[in-house]
Amino acid sequence: MGYFRDSHRIVVKVGTSTLTHATGHLNLRRIERLVKVLSDLQNSGIRVVLVSSGAVSAGVAKIGFGHIPSTPEEKQAMAAIGQSELMKIYDRFFSDYGHTVAQILMTKDVMTNPVRRNAAENTFHRLMEMRCIPIVNENDSVSTDELTKFGGNDILSAHVARICRADLLLNLSDVDGLYDSDPRNNPDARLIERVEDIDSITAGAGGAGSDRGTGGMVAKLQAAKLVTEEGIPMFILNGHDPEILYTLLDGGHVGTYFTAKKNHA
Ligand code: GLU
Repeated sequence: MGYFRDSHRIVVKVGTSTLTHATGHLNLRRIERLVKVLSDLQNSGIRVVLVSSGAVSAGVAKIGFGHIPSTPEEKQAMAAIGQSELMKIYDRFFSDYGHTVAQILMTKDVMTNPVRRNAAENTFHRLMEMRCIPIVNENDSVSTDELTKFGGNDILSAHVARICRADLLLNLSDVDGLYDSDPRNNPDARLIERVEDIDSITAGAGGAGSDRGTGGMVAKLQAAKLVTEEGIPMFILNGHDPEILYTLLDGGHVGTYFTAKKNHA
């Protein structure tokens, strides 16, 4: 089972640019393929947690707003509209493959308040025991400041992996992994297959690959640092074809692998 050999719980993070078309509307074909692969992993006995972006973009597309909103209020409103659209699609597709989904919307203060953190931990663990698939996003409609905002789903996914005591974090992006220089400017840029020491890396791949995603490589490296320090390895992979996860399952190597710093409890 390769990298999944000891993975009983995995967190999969998918970005907006993977889940939506250039129009901002949901990319239903890709979402359905992703859901099929994740359902298959869940069927194989792995417990899957999905961290999904796409709410703002889906909201904008749904009401024909025309552009990504510039004010926080507009963004919050779009997230509220798009989140239910997103969950409706996930619920429908996962149901087709026989699985039950559960929505969890997080704010950063959940991580810093021990009572709320404990409540979130219990909910995740109970849902996984019940073989439900938690689908997590930032609660964009109510998180407005640095106390409540994670600052993107790359960081959120790292916190979720820690709360769930995941064995592996998979970050599905619109790039193939981490490069030694920005592949958009340098045709000779080389993909780095394995990273042992994140501090030695400069964010060679630069910002986000498309203007629909928000993460960029800096946030992905921060996420990798957060999880690997906790003993959880992470991959950055291209989510264009979600079946890429089968390559890992079958023992192959794709993307960039960040090794864990210690064994987690
Ligand atoms: N939570 C945002 C959304 O659902 C995305 C944030 C991110 O991609 O980092 O639209």
